[in-house]
Amino acid sequence: RAKANGRNCMVFFEISQQEEVNRRNAMENDLRGAVARNELCLYYQPIVNGQAEVSAMEALIRWRHPKRGLVAPADFIPLAEQSGLIVPVGLWVLETACRELAEWQQDPVRAKWLMCVNVSARQFKEPGFCQHLLDIVTRTGINVAGLCLELTESLLFSNIDQTLLEKIHSLRSHGVKIALDDFGTGYSSLSYLKDLPLNTLKIDRSFLRDILHNPKDQGITDAILALARTLELQTVAEGVETQEQFEYLRSVGFSRFQGFLFGRPAPKEELQKHG
Ligand code: C2E
Ligand code: MG
Ligand code: MG
Ligand code: MG
Repeated sequence: RAKANGRNCMVFFEISQQEEVNRRNAMENDLRGAVARNELCLYYQPIVNGQAEVSAMEALIRWRHPKRGLVAPADFIPLAEQSGLIVPVGLWVLETACRELAEWQQDPVRAKWLMCVNVSARQFKEPGFCQHLLDIVTRTGINVAGLCLELTESLLFSNIDQTLLEKIHSLRSHGVKIALDDFGTGYSSLSYLKDLPLNTLKIDRSFLRDILHNPKDQGITDAILALARTLELQTVAEGVETQEQFEYLRSVGFSRFQGFLFGRPAPKEELQKHG
């Protein structure tokens, strides 16, 4: 009886594993065609200064799947990274964001907004990345000073090598801005920070969620802010949801703020209220 149960469990396990493989294959096939079928879209979320005025927008990808509805990046970006599809998907993101930025730069109210674009490790490490980006810059005619790439700490610190450093320096020399995203969540070898020509540290929401009540989180953010001041980096507090959090984070010295308090990610048609 126990044996039979064990076998049943095994069969069940194999079936669900097979289902998982099938599901992923189906998703991967769907994603392969998603760019061509025009199913991907960008949402934009405001980043504000201490006066709560918009200073930047972060482009956040969404997938309008014909059957699954609006799919969040957490549900397909990892798959895109594993399969290599992140390369064409990432290029679509850059092209679309730069086209939008070109329009903002013609608009008196929006001309000063930075366009912040997330770039995956795998995409950034692709040998053609810089050239592709510079081609997009030329094609869209943007002032490149308005473009900020968000790289994650894990990309930079787990595998930093000369090639990667040179890439970042080269982008900076062309005027592209670089932010370190989700700062504090990777395993940081902080010494690399002094060699990297960064503009901004984005402090991960996990440190800020409970900031009003957790002295340990307060201590960590104080230390990060001191570091940022020394290195002359801007700081963005991620995930600001309440006025009390905003006031606290502003009082300890963050320079920029992002979160549902100021606006949720929304399609470009819904950005008017910020303009
Ligand atoms: P991220 O770059 O750290 O983006 C911030 C995430 O936090 C976004 O989730 C945003 O909707 C969410 N968020 C912002 N404010 C708040 C808040 O006040 N409360 C809460 N609970 N959440 C908030 P989203 O759009 O689901 O994106 C998740 C992640 O997917 C991003 O994290 C980024 O790592 C990745 N991602 C998004 N778009 C792209 C893309 O175009 N390319 C790549 N490679 N990755 C992307
Ligand atoms: Mg980001
Ligand atoms: Mg982030
Ligand atoms: Mg984050």
